[in-house]
Amino acid sequence: MHLSRLFQRSVRMFGDRPALARGAAPALTYAALDLRVRALARWLREDQQLQPGDRVVLAMKNCTEYAVALLALWHARLCAVPVNNKLHPSEIGYVLENSGARLCFSQGALHEALGPLATQTSVRLVDVQGPAWQAALAGSALPADAGVHGGDGELAWLFYTSGTTGRPKGVMLSHANLVAMALNFHADVLTIDERDALLHVAPMSHGGGLYGIPYWMHGGLQVVPESGGLDEAELFALLHHYPRASMFAAPTIVTRMVQHARGLPPVAAQERCPGLRCLFTGGAPFYVEDVKAAVACFGPRVAQMYGQGETPMTITALRAERIAQAVAEGDDTLLASVGWEQTAVEVDILDADGAPVPPDTLGEVVVRSPTVMLGYWNNPEATAQAMPGGALRTGDVGLVDARGLLHLKDRSKDVIISGGTNIYPREVEEALLRHPAVEEVSVIGTPDAEWGEAVTAFVVRRAGAAVDEAALDQLCIDSIARFKRPKHYVFVPQLPKNPTGKVLKSELRKNYRPAALSVHA
Ligand code: AMP
Repeated sequence: MHLSRLFQRSVRMFGDRPALARGAAPALTYAALDLRVRALARWLREDQQLQPGDRVVLAMKNCTEYAVALLALWHARLCAVPVNNKLHPSEIGYVLENSGARLCFSQGALHEALGPLATQTSVRLVDVQGPAWQAALAGSALPADAGVHGGDGELAWLFYTSGTTGRPKGVMLSHANLVAMALNFHADVLTIDERDALLHVAPMSHGGGLYGIPYWMHGGLQVVPESGGLDEAELFALLHHYPRASMFAAPTIVTRMVQHARGLPPVAAQERCPGLRCLFTGGAPFYVEDVKAAVACFGPRVAQMYGQGETPMTITALRAERIAQAVAEGDDTLLASVGWEQTAVEVDILDADGAPVPPDTLGEVVVRSPTVMLGYWNNPEATAQAMPGGALRTGDVGLVDARGLLHLKDRSKDVIISGGTNIYPREVEEALLRHPAVEEVSVIGTPDAEWGEAVTAFVVRRAGAAVDEAALDQLCIDSIARFKRPKHYVFVPQLPKNPTGKVLKSELRKNYRPAALSVHA
């Protein structure tokens, strides 16, 4: 199914229902949104002379225009190329050039900064707060069936992976991929209907933007906070305003929300944010202690998914009820897992030769699913490496236990090899997080003359709390094998993170100096 055809179905089914709102302001209905979408689509195709398959970059922070632009691109049979608005203009320049984009929507200061680049690459730059955008929306509209004739194999979303080494690669996702993603979301995370609202707190340039699809597909409302991101006070107010709202947030953002809630007058979880239906998280490890804290704070309304750009948000999932049940029963094994394979997804654990391993044995997580990308843009070598025979090699190391739960260890490149033995940072991180004074932690391997690599822990202490190396060492001795204990501790005020809240281990590695060991705050 082409996403444009699917959206037109929603326009017919839910025409007068609210579809898109900015904060608590009155929402556009599906019918009103459709008029804007089709007018913008006509402007793209007729005034800008873009052809089916052409790429259009979206370089802006979260705003309602983002949702309008996405739907218009799909109606015009064009491909969206989302970029993080916090990237350096030269990094955005790389995407403009590599994708061969014809046009770029941006806004504000970023629009100014991109000016010279657009000239070099002959990409037309359009400010979504400027007159060209307004004129486009006020013009005549393409017919409702303009997009429906595109096959669902057409490119819908060309997503440049953050790529910690080398240049980012463009992940090609088709309409069929994204429809499959939305169906899996309904099947395994949350069913959506007309009463539901989605709060766009996470960057719409990442998976967060794609979550609009399972909502508009079933008549839900998309809400973009006025701040365009996470402002805790604004978010908690929206969770009082909307009676049945959900949101995606990276684990570190969930933890920030828990901290904010702790500073509020003590009330029951339900009263704290009465409108919250589900907080779904993923994209990075969600540690057992953090899951428990989130459930204590928000109640049985916390779900988790595991996915990656190459199969967006869709590999495994744990519904909120299962997580709440596991917290109640003290089932830490389930809480430490990323859940069961999603409905349309086959997850296998393969050894280095590509053979399946027995249960409870570590190997690489390999995925077959209709959500798996078509490949990397203009990069057949990388595609052949990532998906030999069509199955996606995720680069994640994990095991499936007897209950069928997937336990992720780490990205294969993050595994520490010390004295010839593999050490998985996540196990060490889980152990350290049990200390009440530890707020955040990230463990990496650092060069070591004797062992090859040494386990090094970067620790953020909770405000006002004290903890030293000796206490952490004892905690590790009590809970994990001695050889996994960190050899070095670095106490830091905060961890480096990317705009989606993922800890940047690459930065920790790059900036690590043995001298930093004396940074004991
Ligand atoms: P990205 O493509 O930037 O979304 O990064 C995807 C990677 O994030 C995955 O390959 C995993 O290594 C990690 N990841 C995603 N979801 C989870 C999760 N729920 N728990 C642990 N790691 C995750």
